Amino acid sequence: MNQNRREFFKKVIIGAGSVAAAAALPETVIAQGRRGKEAAVAGGSDLPLVTPGQGMAASVNYQHKGSDIKDAKLKTDRQGVKFTDQKCANCMLYTKHAMQGSEEVGKCQLFANQLVKSTGWCTSWAKKA
Ligand code: SF4
Repeated sequence: MNQNRREFFKKVIIGAGSVAAAAALPETVIAQGRRGKEAAVAGGSDLPLVTPGQGMAASVNYQHKGSDIKDAKLKTDRQGVKFTDQKCANCMLYTKHAMQGSEEVGKCQLFANQLVKSTGWCTSWAKKA
C-alpha cells in the first residue's frame, strides 16, 4: 500500500469514528437529562444567554420563544405534545437555574456554559419524564 492510500484509509477510519461518536451523543445527552436534578438558584446568573442563530443554536433552530419559530414545518406535535405546549421548561434537557428579572432561565444539556430561557424552544425538544 502506498503512502497516499494509507493516508486515505486513515482519514476514512477517523471519519467513521467521528460519525459514530456523533450518533451516540444524543443518547448520552438524553441520559444525562434524565439523571439531572432541578437546581433552582435565586437571583441572577453570570452565564450568558444562548444567541439564536449562532453555532449550536442555529443547528437546532433555537429561539427564546417558540412563537418566534417561523418555519411551519418545525411546528409539529412531538411525543403527543402540541407544538405550542413545547418549551424548554418542560424539556428533559432543561434544568432551572435562575430568574433574570421576571424570566426564568436554565441550563440545557446542548449548551455548555450558556443559558436558555424557560420559554425557549428548539428542534431537540424532548418531553420531560
Ligand atoms: S427545547 Fe430542550 S433541547 Fe432545546 S434548547 Fe430548550 S432545553 Fe435545550
